[in-house]
Amino acid sequence: MPRILITGAAGFLGSHLTDRFLAAGYDVMGVDNLITGSMRNIAHLTGHPRFTFVRHDVSRVLTVEGPLHGVLHFASPASPIDYLKLPIQTLKVGSLGTHNTLGLARAKGARYFLASTSEVYGDPLEHPQKESYWGNVNPIGPRGVYDEAKRFAEAMTMAYHRTHGLDVRIVRIFNTYGPSMRPHDGRVVSNFIRQALAGEPLTVYGDGSQTRSFCYVADEVEGLYRLFESTFVGPVNLGNPNELKVADLAERVRELTGGSSPIVFEPLPEDDPKVRRPDITRARELLGWEPRVLLEDGLRQTIDYFRSLADGRGPGAPSAPLATEDARLERAPI
Ligand code: NAD
Ligand code: UDP
Repeated sequence: MPRILITGAAGFLGSHLTDRFLAAGYDVMGVDNLITGSMRNIAHLTGHPRFTFVRHDVSRVLTVEGPLHGVLHFASPASPIDYLKLPIQTLKVGSLGTHNTLGLARAKGARYFLASTSEVYGDPLEHPQKESYWGNVNPIGPRGVYDEAKRFAEAMTMAYHRTHGLDVRIVRIFNTYGPSMRPHDGRVVSNFIRQALAGEPLTVYGDGSQTRSFCYVADEVEGLYRLFESTFVGPVNLGNPNELKVADLAERVRELTGGSSPIVFEPLPEDDPKVRRPDITRARELLGWEPRVLLEDGLRQTIDYFRSLADGRGPGAPSAPLATEDARLERAPI
């Protein structure tokens, strides 16, 4: 079977993507340094005959034996609180990590797939955002470490395409949520669910009038898979155009958890985008893709997952057959 390599495979999206490619019959090599990911997310793949895991920092050179059909670069801190804590690692994995994985793809004659982000549009002056929009990013603000790393990564990916003829895909992912998110990753969906389940106040930043558009992970991953299999070179937005205010999301989470937590207002982080909503015309036309899962259903699934972690039933929990850092999953460094 063709073999692909996924960086960030122990993360939220990388682990779901690994499952999708294994289900399609691919062999998958997952690479991750576990800086924001967890072995818990891939614990169910222990002993899988078509999955191998390598613990490695892809900001360092990566060599792999044998053929590769695809290299999918998903490694990067992705939650604002993670990349604000890890600014240099974030810039390195977006720049050096992208360069290293592009070099690997070129050496193997593999297709390259870059996980970019709606953050390349920054605090957008065009709404909703089409792929043709160049963005409004503050390069020296705190969020610049992530936004500019991804903008550099896109530029480097296109340079490899134009200079070396590398076959490339670029996805701009909009806010995605679902099971396998870290409860403490600081993103708004995980924060609100964790807080509501613990009976703590839900922390709305600013006045809560800023908007986001939330895509359930199963929808997102189907779009990612279809884009990989397509022939389109150039950025494609993948996200759910269903836009809502952050304050309204807090209300929805509170209703669905059945909790009675108060909502409290905290300062808005610097450069927090005021609006965000994908124009997905390109994905619809090219991939025949659009999200199907309603916010309410996706939130219910995510709440169930967070409950299972809280009461010890979750994957990789102490009572589960695998410890979170199962050595059997790991191979010698490549
Ligand atoms: P995540 O933090 O759950 O996963 C990222 C994974 O990358 C983690 O397992 C982490 O340990 C790994 N990693 C980080 N630096 C690494 C390095 N130097 N070497 C090897 N592994 C490293 O985040 P996620 O939400 O799964 O995001 C995955 C990708 O998708 C990221 O590139 C992110 O920028 C992109 N993205 C995600 C979203 C979203 O809403 N989830 C939105 C836009 C873009
Ligand atoms: N946010 C919030 N409360 C939280 C976490 C986030 O109000 O506990 C807000 C944040 O300020 C932003 C939105 O929710 O406006 C989405 O934040 P997130 O960190 O999920 O991702 P972003 O889209 O900003 O990258």
